[in-house]
Order: sequence, then structure tokens, then C-alpha cells
Amino acid sequence: MINVTKVYLPDREKYLSYVNEIFDSGHLTNNGPFVQKLEKRLEEFLDVRNVILVSNGTAALELAYKALGLSGKVVTTPFSFAATTTSLVYSGLQPVFADIDPETFNIDPEKIAQKIDGETRAIVPVHVFGNACDVESIGEIAREKDLKVVYDAAHAFDVRFKDRSLLSFGDISTLSFHATKLFHTIEGGAVITQNDDLAEKIRKMRNFGMADSEHIPYAGTNAKMNEFEAAMGLCLLDEIGTIIQKRREVTERYEKSLEGIVEYQRHHPKATRNYSYFPVLFENETIMKRILQALGENDIHPRRYFYPSLDTLPFVTSDETMEISRSVAERILCLPLYPDLETKDIEKISSIIRRQLEPNT
Ligand SMILES: *Cc1c(COP(=O)(O)O)cnc(C)c1O
Repeated sequence: MINVTKVYLPDREKYLSYVNEIFDSGHLTNNGPFVQKLEKRLEEFLDVRNVILVSNGTAALELAYKALGLSGKVVTTPFSFAATTTSLVYSGLQPVFADIDPETFNIDPEKIAQKIDGETRAIVPVHVFGNACDVESIGEIAREKDLKVVYDAAHAFDVRFKDRSLLSFGDISTLSFHATKLFHTIEGGAVITQNDDLAEKIRKMRNFGMADSEHIPYAGTNAKMNEFEAAMGLCLLDEIGTIIQKRREVTERYEKSLEGIVEYQRHHPKATRNYSYFPVLFENETIMKRILQALGENDIHPRRYFYPSLDTLPFVTSDETMEISRSVAERILCLPLYPDLETKDIEKISSIIRRQLEPNT
């Protein structure tokens, strides 16, 4: 069976040596030594000022909204994983959708501008599949309209934009370190900000809002990462260069063998790629479903990332149908992508797709 992704596990002995240290120290959680070490190492590796590790990527988004004191309306993308929208609604905010660009699959800055009114407080774009948003235009809109920007950067680990980290844009960027993501800590996530005061606030807010055992300045939550999770991150960070390189090789093999028969996402020319997903777009939903079925019959299971378009969720309203997002959501598949996906499997997947698209060849 080949799935869209396969959980990557680090060197077993190395992880167990960390576990032994945890057993020896008895320090399981509450800002332990491994969490602190992973934060430092990630700040250096990602080239950002503050990395605040938290329990998951959804908690990272919710902490970001709370720390910025958001209320009212937030302009966001309809084409993402559900958590981008559900975290907003869960936090008492009203998502207002702006449609995506049909080639980049990212929120279209021109459409953001049209959706802003007197109650809008923030923009929450997503670097979908690790493809950098038009951060320059989004930054301009935010400055002009005095809005906060929180990037859901769950897919954008290690992406650079021009000469700086993509994660350093906006007021806050959030990461997910769920087991299925490019870099993971089993469950986990991070809040990233270049603003030291905001970082201090978020550090307290992930720990119930406590400054110390007697001072509780904020109404926070419990979003702490534990030491077993941080240990997983420390192990994986040692291997991340190889992981990304292997994913790049798989991606390039796919691109070669599927050339000319499917559409790819257009990547931002000023940004690097991290090869976190391999999305392909088909002409229509019927063809996509035929391919999904043909692959399924061979025990190959891509995923309909991201379907459905989030403007169709039962607990949101939209004054306008998100036509482009709905159209892309209906026609897209993310093909299996993980470091040790074998060349023969890539060839097999590609030829099954090719046979469906070119039945006479
Ligand atoms: C995975 C993901 C999240 C949620 O992260 P969790 O760690 O699973 O809570 C949020 N947004 C996007 C775009 C994601 O892909």
C-alpha cells in the first residue's frame, strides 16, 4: 500500500538515548531542556528571532489570534486544511473569504483588498503546499489598512523568500509539526514572531497565561509541548537536509514523468521550495475521480488535498461563491511523496495516470 505520505522516523538509537535522558531526569514537560534546546536550534536553522514551541499547529494559530487581541472579521483563504478556518471560528472570529489565484492556489491579494471593511482586523493567508504567498502585496495592504497578518505557514518549514526566512513575514507565522508534516514532533507546532514583546506574551499564554507561580497576567491556555515530542524534533532536525533532498529527487522524477499531461502549482519566483507536497491539477472532477479510482485499484492512495473548499463548511457564511477555490478543490490530488518512495513506484503511479489521460497510447 502506498499512501499520500509516510511518517518519517529518525534513527531509533538516537531517539532512545534522548528517552533515556528523560527517564533519568524525570523532566517530562513544562518548558523542559529539550523544548528549550529545540527552540534555540530552530531559531538558528530557520533564521528567525523567536520560535515558541506549542502542542500543535491549531493551538499555534489560536494563540496567535489571542495574543494579537483579534476580534471581528478576518480575511482568509478558502483553499487550505480545515484548521485555518475552524481555528478562526473556534476563536470567535468571523472568516471572510477572498478567492485564490488559479495558478498559485494562494489567496489573491487583489481580492483581499475588496473584502476589507470597517470590522476587518486581520488577514490570515496560507502558504499552501509550501508555496510562498505574495507577501510583499499582502504586507502593503496590511500597512495601508492597519491590519494584523498571521501566516498559517504549516506547510512552509524552511522556505526562504529573497534573502530572508518566509516565516519572518507578517506579525506572526505558525507552523505545524504533526507527524504527517515535512518536519515533525509527533504532535506539535510553533508560533514564530520577530517581535520580542509579543513572543514573551505568547510564551506566557501557552502556559495558562502565567509569568511565574504567583503572577498570572493573561488568560492563557495549556498549549505546552512535552519532552518526548521535542526529542523527536531534535532527532529529525539532524536529518532534515537529507529528508528535503530526497523529497526533491522524488518531486523531480514525478515532474519529468508527468510532464505535459497535468497542471502544476506555479511557485513564487522569489521563494525557495521545500517539496512538502506534490499537488497535481486535472482538467475536471470526472477525470480526477477516474484517476483516484485507478490508483486505488493498485493500492495507491493520494489525497484530495484540499477538499472541500472551506467556504462550503456548514458553520461559515460567504457573500460570494469562491469559484476558483471550489474548482481547484474539485480537480486536485496530492500524489504520494516521502523520502524513500521508490523510483519504480513513481513510474507506476505516473503510468497509471498517463493511461487514464491518454487511453490510446
Ligand atoms: C496541518 C495543518 C494545520 C494544523 O496543524 P495541527 O498540528 O495538525 O494542529 C493548520 N493549517 C494547515 C494549513 C495545515 O496543513
